Amino acid sequence: MSKCSKCGTTSEEILETGFVGCEKCYELPEIREAIFKLHGGKTHKGE
Ligand SMILES: [Zn+2]
Repeated sequence: MSKCSKCGTTSEEILETGFVGCEKCYELPEIREAIFKLHGGKTHKGE
């Protein structure tokens, strides 16, 4: 589990609440992975 070096929010908290503490939180490996899964899982590119 990672912790943001800037605001101190843990990746667990972010994944649980869905809210990041600051822009640095996005750099946590768990958050990057979660965002990647979110956007990479289902891609609908229209017709
Ligand atoms: Zn942060």
